[in-house]
Amino acid sequence: MVSSDQLPKNYDFAEVEERWRGTWRDEDHYFDRNSEKPQFVIDTPPPYPTGNFHIGNALNWCYIDFFARYKRMKGFNVMFPQGWDCHGLPTEVKVEELNHITKNDVSREEFRRMCRELTEKNITQMRLTLRKMAFSTDWSNEYITMKPDYYGKTQLSFLRMLKNGYIYQSEHPVNYCSRCETAIAFAEVAYEDRETQLNYFDFGGVEIATTRPELLAACVALAVHPEDERYHSLKGRKMKVPIFGHEVPVIQDTAVDPAFGSGAVMICTFGDKQDVHWWKQHNLALRKAIDRQGKMTEIADTYQGMTAAECRTAILADMKSLNILNRQERLAQRVGTCWRCKTPIEILSERQWFVRIKPDEIQKAAHQITWYPEHMLRRMENWIEQMEWDWCISRQRIFATPIPVWFCAKCGDMITPDEKDLPVDPTLVQPDHACPRCGGNDFIGEADVLDTWMDSSISVLKVTGWDGKGVPPFFPAQIRPQGHDIIRTWAFYTILRSVALTGQKPWDEILVNGMVLGEDGFKMSKSRGNIIVPEEILLKYGADALRQWAAMGAATGSDIMFSWNDVVAASRFQTKMWNIARFVMIQLEKEGFDKNVPVTALADRWLLVHLSDTIQAVSDAMECYQFDVALKAIREFAWDTLADNYIELVKGRLYTGNESRKSALLVLSTALDSLCRMLAPFTPYFAEECYTNLNKGASVHSQPWVSFTYDDETARNEGNLLVQVVAGVRKYKHDSGLALNAPLGRVTIYAPHTVNDEGDTGRTLNADVHWRTDAAQLDRAVTDISFNRAVIGPVFRKQAQEFMAAVRALSPDQLENPPKTILLEGNEVEIPENAFTPKFSYIEEGAKVDVITVGDVIVTIVKSA
Ligand SMILES: [Zn+2]
Ligand SMILES: [Zn+2]
Repeated sequence: MVSSDQLPKNYDFAEVEERWRGTWRDEDHYFDRNSEKPQFVIDTPPPYPTGNFHIGNALNWCYIDFFARYKRMKGFNVMFPQGWDCHGLPTEVKVEELNHITKNDVSREEFRRMCRELTEKNITQMRLTLRKMAFSTDWSNEYITMKPDYYGKTQLSFLRMLKNGYIYQSEHPVNYCSRCETAIAFAEVAYEDRETQLNYFDFGGVEIATTRPELLAACVALAVHPEDERYHSLKGRKMKVPIFGHEVPVIQDTAVDPAFGSGAVMICTFGDKQDVHWWKQHNLALRKAIDRQGKMTEIADTYQGMTAAECRTAILADMKSLNILNRQERLAQRVGTCWRCKTPIEILSERQWFVRIKPDEIQKAAHQITWYPEHMLRRMENWIEQMEWDWCISRQRIFATPIPVWFCAKCGDMITPDEKDLPVDPTLVQPDHACPRCGGNDFIGEADVLDTWMDSSISVLKVTGWDGKGVPPFFPAQIRPQGHDIIRTWAFYTILRSVALTGQKPWDEILVNGMVLGEDGFKMSKSRGNIIVPEEILLKYGADALRQWAAMGAATGSDIMFSWNDVVAASRFQTKMWNIARFVMIQLEKEGFDKNVPVTALADRWLLVHLSDTIQAVSDAMECYQFDVALKAIREFAWDTLADNYIELVKGRLYTGNESRKSALLVLSTALDSLCRMLAPFTPYFAEECYTNLNKGASVHSQPWVSFTYDDETARNEGNLLVQVVAGVRKYKHDSGLALNAPLGRVTIYAPHTVNDEGDTGRTLNADVHWRTDAAQLDRAVTDISFNRAVIGPVFRKQAQEFMAAVRALSPDQLENPPKTILLEGNEVEIPENAFTPKFSYIEEGAKVDVITVGDVIVTIVKSA
């Protein structure tokens, strides 16, 4: 603590932020499990530990921290946990890259160890950024999904859902990435526009158009529209597949588009989702032509072992030489690709594990949740409505939660572990009892692992204390904050799992944030070179400026463009606020203020009215997560109302020894105290630095939210008038080329009623100010006439001088309403348009005055003192 006049002139964010970071205690942010306060549990997104906390994360976390801090100040027992969603492909790929190996070069256990090690390192790095950003994380509720205490819960949830029928295994077509060698869920399929070739070839006399000739070996039927007359003769027939020679039936289906290609299509297992549909509908055979590595299988005969692409080239060449390739044309196509590596996905029929999707249950729970912004619920509804397949949860990878299941080698029965033994890796340990069905002692552990979303979709169960027994003690959470890009995954899966495991919705509210775009308005990407790293902003402008950008950038839920200008503006606001705070503290220190002094002066009451309005507006905005609205209101109050208007008005009073000085001091300290509290969620470092200086070492972060209210309609109206008049006269000074502190003579304000301004107006304007309620008595006089020589010259030529003299001789009334003609050397001549403009001035009580109007109020000004 320094004395106020020793407060540094400039706000040094780097010094202040580092100092407070070293002072604050983690314990102050711990959730209290025994608290009587209402709970506010946040289901924080667990980021993927890449090592870099990116700008999109930063936006998301700023929102979370804004309301976490706000809710704490409002008296809630807040849990702001921090999770890490560790498992998955990106880490596996990184480990392979860093160690120059493939996953098959080392044992599964060794590969997992390498993944864990890299993840630990990355988490350490990201924790540091979280701390620098001043997020009020509850580190006592940190969870790491690759740790046994977490993935043990994932396994427990798997077993529970297996038991209650939500999870089953089955051979079913799934989306499969042959590069990543794993099944993927529909939510992980990314769509890309590509150009491909449509090949027309002769299929035993019927022309078939296909983009996938390499699937010819997997052809199981031909399909035509039942009303397509061209193909009536094919009804009930079998056709021989060219090159391969197997026979397939001709089926009829109204889903065939007679206008596409030749109107006949071949059905392969599987070219696309439509094939899957027909395959089921018509109970067709299954021919697997492509294997898990993307290679042609033995049913592809001579093409066996080729990649799909090689096979395509070879088959087209063979069709050409057999003279059955009729023609080829280009075709624009939307291709489903792997979200991770962009390889086009194949649809393979595989034994996989699935979670049953019950759309009605999920819809019901989704509608019990309050969505911010509201329209995001529509996205969830759309996604649920278009669900056709169950959620494929098995992956053929390594760094993931093992599926806790064995199969008896003798009878094939499934054996699950005891819940008390979780977590288990069934590939490393064996069941501790014989097969209950056949008594066998030989078991095969399930080698497939779980989709990462199986881990992260129980985050809310984990933080609310789920132990497998019904509804957890702190369930449901109050809010889920997340990006709109993962509504179809994380939000969807979490609702599904919560309903399946507890029968309830996971949260009361969900807050969806937008994406951060680069300064050029495009999605940030390496190739565009428009990536902004939070660390760079932290270094240049500090955490508080970055946090302000996050709040102000856009309405919650909208995409937000990054802008250095906004960060600079945020940093300028801190400079301005620091100047205000420093001024106030210096004034307060000169003379201790009295908390019980009556606030009487109009300007003081007016400021309190506006402070009260601002607090109401900010509180309302915080309640519905409109951070841009809240911070904008704070800034406008601080910058315009407090600094530009109020402080300018009362500055003079503060330098007098008047009694009313105390009233201004009380108002200033109330305003600054309130501003610190309202800024605390947004700029925790800055607010702390100001507050602690203002309140002798107390922390703003342990204060309640500001609850000050003040109502005084008279002060609002009269104060607004006062402020407008002062602004009007200041503008007059500026327009007249006078300095703002230049002395004026008498200033008379003709207002509807007089105002007891405690002399503020006079001191501010440096003038002898009189408030009057009578009407202004003003005489108007013409003091000058400006002639328009461009008009007069050409018309009057040599007579121009005489014309001007004649005009000057007119009476003031005539000048104001000029006659049509004028007498010039005995002749009546016409006065041309725009020949002259009279200049008036006003005389008040014998003195020449300038007159301005502020609304309906007339203000007369005697310029010189
Ligand atoms: Zn892939
Ligand atoms: Zn058995």
